[in-house]
Amino acid sequence: MAPATASATKRMRRQSSGLVFNPGPATVVECVRSPGKAERRFSVATGAGGKQTLMPAEVEAPEETQEIETVAGQPPTEAAPTEMVVEQTLESPLESPSEVFARFLSSDSIKQVYSSFGQLLRHCEEAEADGRTAASTTGQVAAEDTPVPPYCRFRQVLGGALPWRARSVWTLLDTRLHGPEYKEAPLKGKHAVICGAGPCGIRTALELVMLHADVTVLEKRAPVDACGRINRVHLWEWCKQDLLGWGAKIFDPPGGAFGGDNDFCHIGLGELQLLLLKNALLLGTRFLFRAEAVQVKDGELLLKDGQRLPCDMLVLASGANSQLSESVGLRSVALGLRGKGSAIGVVANFVHGRDARQMALRQFAWARQFNMPLFARLEKETAMDLENIVYYKGQSHHYMVMTPTKKSLLRNSVLREGRPAGQRLLHGSNVDVQRLGCMVQGIAAFFGLPTELCSTQGAMIFDFSGIRRLEAAATVADGGVLVCAVGDALLEPFWPEGLGIMRGFMSALDAAAAAVAAAKGSGPQAGIQLLATTYNVLKSVSAQTASQFLQKDPRRYRLQPKSRYVFSHG
Ligand SMILES: Cc1cc2nc3c(=O)[nH]c(=O)nc-3n(C[C@H](O)[C@H](O)[C@H](O)COP(=O)(O)OP(=O)(O)OC[C@H]3O[C@@H](n4cnc5c(N)ncnc54)[C@H](O)[C@@H]3O)c2cc1C
Repeated sequence: MAPATASATKRMRRQSSGLVFNPGPATVVECVRSPGKAERRFSVATGAGGKQTLMPAEVEAPEETQEIETVAGQPPTEAAPTEMVVEQTLESPLESPSEVFARFLSSDSIKQVYSSFGQLLRHCEEAEADGRTAASTTGQVAAEDTPVPPYCRFRQVLGGALPWRARSVWTLLDTRLHGPEYKEAPLKGKHAVICGAGPCGIRTALELVMLHADVTVLEKRAPVDACGRINRVHLWEWCKQDLLGWGAKIFDPPGGAFGGDNDFCHIGLGELQLLLLKNALLLGTRFLFRAEAVQVKDGELLLKDGQRLPCDMLVLASGANSQLSESVGLRSVALGLRGKGSAIGVVANFVHGRDARQMALRQFAWARQFNMPLFARLEKETAMDLENIVYYKGQSHHYMVMTPTKKSLLRNSVLREGRPAGQRLLHGSNVDVQRLGCMVQGIAAFFGLPTELCSTQGAMIFDFSGIRRLEAAATVADGGVLVCAVGDALLEPFWPEGLGIMRGFMSALDAAAAAVAAAKGSGPQAGIQLLATTYNVLKSVSAQTASQFLQKDPRRYRLQPKSRYVFSHG
């Protein structure tokens, strides 16, 4: 393959600069074209008033396909966000809006999400240029002077050309946006930046964009990596209801089967991110990938590549062990969870052959205290002593999560030493990865499950004994910026209980409620005060204490903290 010329690379980078809307890196673009054919490239951009458009980029017909492929395939310089370019050859007929929308709904990769979203915008552009718009503008919620969310534009411009499922999506989004807390647009004119495109970051983005803030999500990793986790997270009833409200059955993944089994509600982490991300795009959120925030200065957020973003509110959704919180002065404390090394989680993903036998496998969740004989037999046959084990069936893989005792991990030589000198218990040098794989295969075989480990993310081991949480949920940074932490960045969960998403989503709503309090009240201090109260309750919520600290009916949970928490517990 011929190397890309420096001028071609520069040309592409120059074309990429200056756009506000910046969905992802050029590296994920697939170049489908023939040598010498003229092509059209489009970048998605946000113009004045927040209206999103496709910008044709003036790219010359490549003399050699390879050259452009190499340019597109080049890794962008580290932490240099680049625009996702939506490719379309002139020769290939455009898919109809209906086909593109169906593809958007069923996109199971971030690349497909952006390509279909970009094409929908392009259809809008063309219809607007031709003066074709649908008659109906029902459900239009944006006021005259606020940006129209892309979904309203799709409905207005493409209208009846979209499949019936589009109407279901519009209805869900309208229902959300018409909630009393959002209608008044309390965050209009505010710039909110969210660091981290994990599930809790995107969930926070959804709240803030519905409150009419101008929202940018920064993610330091490349899109494919950021949304590529296949572990399946357990969902509490409230999270299930929340995701149904975000169209979990309409968007696929997770698809129509979502939540069908009342006993076991779960979703793949990547699937969850894509579901939320699709909604966030429809509502007008910006995403910058390979963009790493480093600090706040004078009311602006500084990125590692030197960019500055206006920022009235910063949300730290940067996951566990985030260094960002320290840089804004939020300190963390370690939680002693059941003694060092005694809270170990093991996760395994096995290939799903999708044959009749595997399709018929039943999901299960067992805890030792409820089925002693089963755990005794397991120990006899595999020499593994577990406290609990869960098996979930995903579309493409089988997922197992278990909590083995440290003693049995040592007995099976998965751990080399019980107290490795100067190292963490699960440091790479102390874990025999092959033995770990054999161990989970033995356990899978015991339960009659398939045993072929997925080639990536096959078997993984985690230590919960040193988990951390922040001392306070919020602070004020340089220039009066309200800084709130959400998700794992705020409070690392003991996730075998499904606490990660449940507490993460709660903290997302708390952060949004704090932003409203700050906007309506006396500035950031009002938000900080509110978060001091909510965090006090949130950190006490676990599987055992939920009924004490959470309101009974999850269907009534709203933005207002009192609709979700019981505050009488001091
Ligand atoms: C194997 C496994 C199984 C799990 N099972 C469950 C379960 O069953 N139920 C459950 O509820 N939870 C479960 N969890 C926990 C759950 O995955 C986490 O609680 C959840 O992902 C936290 O989401 P988050 O958005 O807070 O952080 P993350 O998902 O960690 O996302 C943080 C993001 O921030 C980015 N980032 C970091 N620093 C910066 C920066 N400076 N600038 C920009 N971006 C930055 C990171 O790249 C990352 O993408 C599991 C976790 C694992 C690892």
